[in-house]
Amino acid sequence: VKYENRGTYFTYTAQLDDRADATSAIEARLKRALQHEGFVLHYQPVIDITSGRVASVEALLRLAGDRDQLIGPDQFIPIAEAAGLIGQLGEWVAVEACRQHNAWRKEGLPPINIAINVSPLQFRQRGFAQRLQAIVQAAGLDPSCIQIEVTESTVMGNIDDAIHTLKGIRFSGIKVALDDFGTGYSSLSHLSNLPLDKLKVDQSFVRRLEHDNSSKAITMAIIALGRALNLEIVGEGIESEEALMYLAEQGCNLAQGYFISRPLSATDFTDWYRKRTT
Ligand code: C2E
Ligand code: CA
Ligand code: CA
Ligand code: CA
Repeated sequence: VKYENRGTYFTYTAQLDDRADATSAIEARLKRALQHEGFVLHYQPVIDITSGRVASVEALLRLAGDRDQLIGPDQFIPIAEAAGLIGQLGEWVAVEACRQHNAWRKEGLPPINIAINVSPLQFRQRGFAQRLQAIVQAAGLDPSCIQIEVTESTVMGNIDDAIHTLKGIRFSGIKVALDDFGTGYSSLSHLSNLPLDKLKVDQSFVRRLEHDNSSKAITMAIIALGRALNLEIVGEGIESEEALMYLAEQGCNLAQGYFISRPLSATDFTDWYRKRTT
């Protein structure tokens, strides 16, 4: 198994015959990490396009690898799901995000809303909404400082159960965003029934905005749809000023992507934030 540098973290590029070994190596690492603080959250800012202010950050999970390398979520989330570890892992993420929110406040930063990603299996686990609320409450947080991000496929699979879970979450004050919108198979009539606060335009469209007219058309349609449903709209995967400008023109109000900032460690985010606001 060898590692390849992808900028913010390393990724396994196993040959086919090493793949089973790599999977069990990651599974073992995940189990150890759950006991010995082997995970870390990085934070990517989301800005309000009009004011330029930081509206929130998205927490993105990394697993500590050998030496100082970090392993990205695409490499281990599926393994955590298959190994039955996703519930525990998801709770670690929620607890850590709440802890970081409080730590930033103590450092004198204004309250920073944090979004956490929730995997389909985790979302469907019985008691998910209650456990999340309990974590937020135990940390003494205003629930509206926390947001969950779920994908279309997570909620569209079993729409009635999903609506029930989402209602519970929003009733407690926690916000909900629909992630990667435009790539799944949501029926538009279902979308209007979902209790949501935000829609995130999938980055596959945003990243192709400059090169491809159909991505422009799809992005424009998603933004119009979101606005018609009174949702906030986040453009993600913004890598250029052109993409940011196009999204702004179309009425997208929130922006996230490498053009604004890559995901940063908590300390690097603090520095970035202080520089930006002074
Ligand atoms: P996502 O929720 O769609 O997160 C956005 C991904 O796009 C992140 O990758 C982020 O680093 C990357 N990204 C952000 N801006 C840009 C950009 O301008 N250009 C490009 N090329 N990429 C950009 P990351 O951190 O590798 O996360 C991948 C996926 O892993 C996430 O996709 C999310 O589905 C999942 N994930 C991350 N953290 C967690 C977690 O705590 N729990 C669960 N269940 N899933 C997580
Ligand atoms: Ca997300
Ligand atoms: Ca996304
Ligand atoms: Ca994704």
